[in-house]
Amino acid sequence: MSDLTKLKVAEARDALRAGDVTSAELTEACLAAIDGADALGAFVHKTPEIARQQAAAADARIQAGDAPALCGIPMGIKDLFCTKGVPSQAASRILEGFKPEYESTVTSKLFEAGTVMLGKLNMDEFAMGSSNETSCYGNAVNPWRRSDDAAALTPGGSSGGSASAVAADLCLAATGTDTGGSIRQPAAFTGITGIKPTYGRCSRWGIVAFASSLDQAGPMTKDVRDSAILLNAMCGHDPKDSTSANLPVPDFEAMLTGDIRGKTIGIPREYRIDGISDEIDALWDRGRDMLRDAGARIVDISLPHTKYALPTYYVIAPAEASSNLARYDGVRYGHRAKLASGEGINDMYEKTRAEGFGPEVQRRVMVGTYVLSAGFYDAYYNKARKVRSLIKRDFELAFADGVDAILTPATPSPAFGLGEMQDADPVQMYLNDVFTVTVNLAGLPGISVPAGLGHEGLPLGLQLIGRPWEEGDLLNTAYALERAVGFVDKPAKWW
Ligand code: GLN
Repeated sequence: MSDLTKLKVAEARDALRAGDVTSAELTEACLAAIDGADALGAFVHKTPEIARQQAAAADARIQAGDAPALCGIPMGIKDLFCTKGVPSQAASRILEGFKPEYESTVTSKLFEAGTVMLGKLNMDEFAMGSSNETSCYGNAVNPWRRSDDAAALTPGGSSGGSASAVAADLCLAATGTDTGGSIRQPAAFTGITGIKPTYGRCSRWGIVAFASSLDQAGPMTKDVRDSAILLNAMCGHDPKDSTSANLPVPDFEAMLTGDIRGKTIGIPREYRIDGISDEIDALWDRGRDMLRDAGARIVDISLPHTKYALPTYYVIAPAEASSNLARYDGVRYGHRAKLASGEGINDMYEKTRAEGFGPEVQRRVMVGTYVLSAGFYDAYYNKARKVRSLIKRDFELAFADGVDAILTPATPSPAFGLGEMQDADPVQMYLNDVFTVTVNLAGLPGISVPAGLGHEGLPLGLQLIGRPWEEGDLLNTAYALERAVGFVDKPAKWW
């Protein structure tokens, strides 16, 4: 077989089982593609020895007729999943040299399902960012370029390495995490599919925490079917995470019929925000028409508290981050600053954190400690928690009215140039998340599906938001949209 790295997970699974290809062959093809793609900055720690061992073990299992769902499938893992004995730095200097003694629940589930790990993937530092420019390893680069210029573009963030690697066919699929959009926005920027499941679906145990009430892991894949397959392997109850849901997990792939007749799709009027390009508006209208043509009922809905979502998120997420990141003090993990004679423990904490955290992380820690401080707790943090409940209730009311899923754009623009936002106000960067953060605040599942190319030749995504715990239904609606769109474009290889 040729072009092995271009295979989708489902195709590779079938080819492996049919004996048309071995996991060793697939894995070597991916390792070679990765070695030829350093210009993308996607993989930050390569693990070829582990990959070869796991591929050999997978081939033996396939031969023995004992192949679990992802047996022999080569994947990349976002750097903030703790992987035993393998650097897991969340793209931060402060975790330099950290090799966990344990495996995150999500990666151990993937390994139990037979996955082959090719290496760790670039990301924004501690998953804070929308462009992968806050990484201590340097940028990841989008394999896509505008049709009329060769400027390097962001793959989005924070799961930028995952998005770039999947879009460039360096691996068959990847893991991501999404606190405010970090799976869906990079998926949209690179023409791939990414789902953030309901909060509590995937265990957070062993994932470096950013904002614990918002963080969720999810798959980033070449199509909707692959997302369904991966999500099945990644999720499920975990007693080690007290927020993990003890609910049965349906067979998501089996739910992909493409039949959405009679489903009600809501179009929220508050998502028609000022300053959105006509192109994104037109894309949204096309998506709506496609779902209607597939037999869904389209209704206009109102989610009145939407305009407060970004400010609410940018109080809650930094507050939780400032608490979570307090553990990086130079004592337990990673980097420790060198002290001059006469300097003591407080100097050690201060210097370590000043050297170890990049500017965006420092900004979040400062904002977080401020909104949690005694004098401002009620004015900011408590207020934000209340508004969060109202945002959640907006969705609950829409679902109670019979809405099955909500269609919105995934991002307000296509991928932008690396460095383009450097001198902009940080709020400009935060605006990237305007369509995605509501979903995390409400704990709902959301998926981004490629929906076409814009006038510059760059991919654009549409987002579908589902009812809690109904990822199967959501994936099926996304599958219907994917079939209607028929997106097959790939970036032209330049790296
Ligand atoms: N871009 C958002 C932020 O910077 C979301 C990041 C994420 O989902 N991890 O916080």
